[in-house]
Amino acid sequence: MSDHDLVVHSTHGALAIRDGIITDSGSYTSGSAREEIDFGDALILPGWIDAHVHFNEPGRADWEGFATGSRALAAGGGTTFFDMPLNSSPPVITRTAFEEKRRIGEEKSRLDFALWAGLTPDSLNHMEAMADAGAIGFKAFMCPSGLDEFQSANPSTLRKGMEIAARVGLPVAVHAEDPDVIIQHQLTYPPASNDMRAWLDSRPIEAELSAIRIAIALAGETGCDLHIVHVTCPEGIDLVTEAKKCGVRVTVETCPHYLLLDDEKAIATGPAAKCAPPIRSKATVAAMWKKLLAGEIDTIGSDHSPSPPELKQGSDIFAMWGGIAGIQHGLPLVLSQDLKPVLQLAWKVAHRFHLPQKGSLLPGQDADFMVLKKQPLTITRDQLLTRHAISPYIGMTSAYTVVATYLRGQKVTTDTRGKFLSPPRG
Ligand code: ZN
Repeated sequence: MSDHDLVVHSTHGALAIRDGIITDSGSYTSGSAREEIDFGDALILPGWIDAHVHFNEPGRADWEGFATGSRALAAGGGTTFFDMPLNSSPPVITRTAFEEKRRIGEEKSRLDFALWAGLTPDSLNHMEAMADAGAIGFKAFMCPSGLDEFQSANPSTLRKGMEIAARVGLPVAVHAEDPDVIIQHQLTYPPASNDMRAWLDSRPIEAELSAIRIAIALAGETGCDLHIVHVTCPEGIDLVTEAKKCGVRVTVETCPHYLLLDDEKAIATGPAAKCAPPIRSKATVAAMWKKLLAGEIDTIGSDHSPSPPELKQGSDIFAMWGGIAGIQHGLPLVLSQDLKPVLQLAWKVAHRFHLPQKGSLLPGQDADFMVLKKQPLTITRDQLLTRHAISPYIGMTSAYTVVATYLRGQKVTTDTRGKFLSPPRG
């Protein structure tokens, strides 16, 4: 009888798997498994746990959807994702909406997944019920979200929500941009309508810093776990590092697009590179890499936020949908520059969100991994597996290609079904 269901190996090492769990990692003994796969000189690395996606189902599945979103993520080395409470419709601000989304995810997702619940003025009375239903945490917008059905949280609402979150033991994630700073700035520099530079200039770093300061102060006062998503600038990371030293329970995310694109590239790319906070300068991007490699950034999430192409067209950049659709190539492009951030893509995410089965290739963990081959890949529109063929990375070349992705020991295919994950409570 074989000891293992599967052994995968390459010149860099081996993994033995039984019942979807890693039983051994390191060296390889031929003949010990029912099936053996030799991946040559490829790297076998933990799959991306992408804690920040917008798959928009139910309600806006024509923008993405669990099936297409998880297919594209798997092709890009992802094995688990956390879906945001918007831009699905209704947004996840009640237990009913939460359970409806869970049901759809279980039916359609190819990958394991968790769900964020909303922290909005309307959701405060529903937060405990959504925690009981298995939410991974709560997401709040400190500035308008772009959708009226998901209201922003002013400091008073945020404080109330953080008190509830602290009581139920779940983190609050914030989109940190201060609307007052944005408004003041837009009054000073009236934007030209179809000018990407005007969009970039309309949401300055100072708007992020102001909101980050407010969120950190409230987290300190309420004892709430805080996760600041999609921070674009080293000054923002410094605020988090300082707060950590003072004992505030805060972590910080950045996204591949803040590490791979700069203002000039965004202007050349056009609407596919519109997002908020916006893409920053080359110098800021270089400084973010330093912070990442110094370990000051906790997690990397895609903030995959697609829309149909018609919402990315027109003559007014301010009216167009803002959101980067980059879930399929963000990881190989980031790892092409440096392999170290695999930590922020997997282990640190699992640790941050208390998923003890995920995030590494140690014995006892779920056998969730990607196979990454040193093989250049130039990104073209026809490779895209998302619902719409939009990506700001078209034309860029990755040094690595993801050749396979495995979820709990099974190669991800159309038949793979993901499990709903909920964090331990208490
Ligand atoms: Zn987002």
